[in-house]
Amino acid sequence: SEQLTGQLLSDRLSREAFERARAVIPGGVNSPVRAFLAVGGAPRFIARASGPYLYDIDGNELVDLICSWGPMLLGHAHPEVLAAVGAAAEHGTSYGAPTLAEVELAEAIIERAPVEQVRLVNSGTEATMSVLRLARGITGRDMIVKFAGCYHGHVDSLLASAGSGVATLAIPGTPGVTAATTADTIVLSYNDRTGVREAFARYGDRIAAVITEAAAGNMGVIPPGVEDGIGFNAFLADICREHGALFISDEVMTGFRVTRTGQYGIDGVQPDLMTFGKVMGGGFPAAAFGGRAELMQQLAPVGGIYQAGTLSGNPVATAAGLATLRLATPEVYAHVDAISAQLQAEVGAALSAAGVPHVIQAAGNLFSVFFVAGVTAVPDYATAATQSTQAYAAFFHSMLEQGVYLPPSAYEGWFLSAAHDDGAMNRIVSALPAAARAAA
Ligand code: PLP
Repeated sequence: SEQLTGQLLSDRLSREAFERARAVIPGGVNSPVRAFLAVGGAPRFIARASGPYLYDIDGNELVDLICSWGPMLLGHAHPEVLAAVGAAAEHGTSYGAPTLAEVELAEAIIERAPVEQVRLVNSGTEATMSVLRLARGITGRDMIVKFAGCYHGHVDSLLASAGSGVATLAIPGTPGVTAATTADTIVLSYNDRTGVREAFARYGDRIAAVITEAAAGNMGVIPPGVEDGIGFNAFLADICREHGALFISDEVMTGFRVTRTGQYGIDGVQPDLMTFGKVMGGGFPAAAFGGRAELMQQLAPVGGIYQAGTLSGNPVATAAGLATLRLATPEVYAHVDAISAQLQAEVGAALSAAGVPHVIQAAGNLFSVFFVAGVTAVPDYATAATQSTQAYAAFFHSMLEQGVYLPPSAYEGWFLSAAHDDGAMNRIVSALPAAARAAA
């Protein structure tokens, strides 16, 4: 590989750090997707990041296609975001009392997404956990419908056939989540309308909500399918309305990334409740859930459904999120859309030239590459799970050796940023032929 690129140093310090980490942190990582479980080897330990690049502790410069799993829409260490963060921190880092900046962030979200009120929380997991409680409290019903391969964070009741790290580890659920907890979770196949109709026919008066990723991004990218001109999200919204259930669109990954709004900007389906995270925190822990005022008003302290958080609306996180949303201009989205389309074409061409069976799917600028054979589309998790994780691992390691950091799992989307310029794109594109040959 050294001959191939001549640019990478060793990963000795990362490997040593990983050993040290594994002694004190389970698996050496604070979130399973960071480990190289599915691809083998030791993850790179990152010293710093700038624009489209990560710099590991061995001194390697890596083009980043993870972007913190979504948040870094503007690229790393954007000077104006850093300035906003610095200014906020100088005024104190947490008060436990309300601030104007929280109101501004709520207003910025409401201006972009179809919600009337939001509550700020610290992680996407908290947002989905809280929104389910709200939906159950409002409807007085227990059951939740989710889709296999959709990941909504590590909420107990949603850790049934979840995507992301759960899919990477090929486990259906997890010990520690009791059967009673998931007894009220109905898991259906994504894009399968018959399954949804059957579930409502059987349990229609017991279903509190259907929760779905606005476009699935945690089993690879699977956009909502269109049948007879009606998209899957519109179908879900309608059937929920018919049965008095709430339709929850999880835009933690897609929100403010795939368009200025999110997937809503693509299919325009109005959910009852929504969740947000990632981009709206600008690289800090911040997330939100929202919906119609009449629904959100049922939360404490107005209504009786309790939800709270010591650090919710944290001033530093709020400043980072606000700056990020404000800097995410139409030009930012146009750029990310354009380079995403370019990269999808280049990856497809390289894999085809090497004879590697694959399908590339996108939801706006978020895309992923499935190393599947014999199909032209991947509509659901069962199909995604037929992919060759070995081929992906070979592809991944070749890219890494050539200075490109892809998600270390075949079940994840590829994230680009406004900072991915010609230099970064050229590095990725020139690495593709060898990586494609490695995957063949
Ligand atoms: N929902 C979706 C769609 C996600 O992609 C994620 C995280 O990847 C979450 C929820 C959970 O967010 P967090 O990791 O911030 O808890």
